[in-house]
Amino acid sequence: MAALVSPSSLVRERRVAKPPKRSRPARGSAAPARGWQGQLRQSVRSVEQLARALELTPEELEGARRAEREGLPIAISPYYLSLCDRHDASCPVRMQCVPRIDEAHEVLGDLVDPLGEVDHEVAPHLVRRYPDRVLLLATDRCAVYCRFCTRSRIVGDGGGPVSLERLEPAFAWIAANPEIRDVIVSGGDPLAMATERLDRLLGRIRAIPTVETIRLATRVPVTLPMRITAELVRALRKHHPVWVMTHFNHPKELTRESIAACTRLADGGFPVMNQTVLLAGINDDPDVLETLFRGLVRARVRPYYLLQTDPVRGTGHLRTPLARGVEILERLQGRLTGIALPKLICDTPGGKGKVPLTPDYVVGRGEGTTTLRTFRGEEVTYVDPPARPSRAR
Ligand SMILES: *Cc1c(COP(=O)(O)O)cnc(C)c1O
Repeated sequence: MAALVSPSSLVRERRVAKPPKRSRPARGSAAPARGWQGQLRQSVRSVEQLARALELTPEELEGARRAEREGLPIAISPYYLSLCDRHDASCPVRMQCVPRIDEAHEVLGDLVDPLGEVDHEVAPHLVRRYPDRVLLLATDRCAVYCRFCTRSRIVGDGGGPVSLERLEPAFAWIAANPEIRDVIVSGGDPLAMATERLDRLLGRIRAIPTVETIRLATRVPVTLPMRITAELVRALRKHHPVWVMTHFNHPKELTRESIAACTRLADGGFPVMNQTVLLAGINDDPDVLETLFRGLVRARVRPYYLLQTDPVRGTGHLRTPLARGVEILERLQGRLTGIALPKLICDTPGGKGKVPLTPDYVVGRGEGTTTLRTFRGEEVTYVDPPARPSRAR
């Protein structure tokens, strides 16, 4: 553990030197839960508990009442709740986990299953949209239910983790399709499962010889960082190469605890990648994202994707126009070290696949020449080599 101290304490110093917006933490309902299971047991799940912890606005109160009756349920771990500002409804953490009545409003473009996952199911709980990789939906539970969840149609209302027996057809499908080299275990959050169950699940996937990499898609480092225990790391590292895909959205989420969780994973040999969802009023700002991406890189987490919010029904109030992401990326390109700069991705409605969006740097094309615009705005012409007779490869 001693080895963990230096990198995370460095990060901590930097964080203190440039603190996020001051906030008054939410009041927990009981003594703070220690272990991760205790955190899950003490999660806020009702309007009553939520109203005790935070000063709710009428829009939130009405939204929470609606969420309790229908739609995506409420779940907030005591840890994530403690990052919420008790008084300020515009707190970027609070806006991710506290429902608003806007969730009742359907807008143009809204879909129940924006990524067409139901249509792309090749076996129960297995989604295939690309030639070489598949997505395994192993549970419907998370430590926190994010209000913009792309899988709000299934999350929180199934039977919890899916048994290995019920996943057997999915494993059989993967084994019968050797072009599949990468299995993404998602849900729900696979790290919300018991370690032993997850260990057996990964062991079962590893038993398929054609699978090269396993990815764990998890928000637990952000929402329940105490879940990343030494025991968990020991159990999972047996199944390497395992990559961890996590989901930080705001610098306020870079706490001593979440940075320590990422450090433990990186020290355990897991490459840690981050997928940020671009959210209106939460992180649709180049300075906020710059702070987040730099903080992630210091924690040895690679900003992988900046995702346009999927048009999930009832999330119109959290979505930005497509052009906003491009504009933000253009501000960061060149200014930000390359390892901190993610790709901007639109996951196309209907499940046709992810499309990268980039600012346009080509300003002119001539006969064998291309004029490019640099991040400083200079125009430079690149000249192609003279055409040669083509040769067979
Ligand atoms: C997003 C996604 C993937 C992974 O995409 P990458 O670009 O490889 O990270 C794979 N399968 C499905 C169904 C997905 O939605």
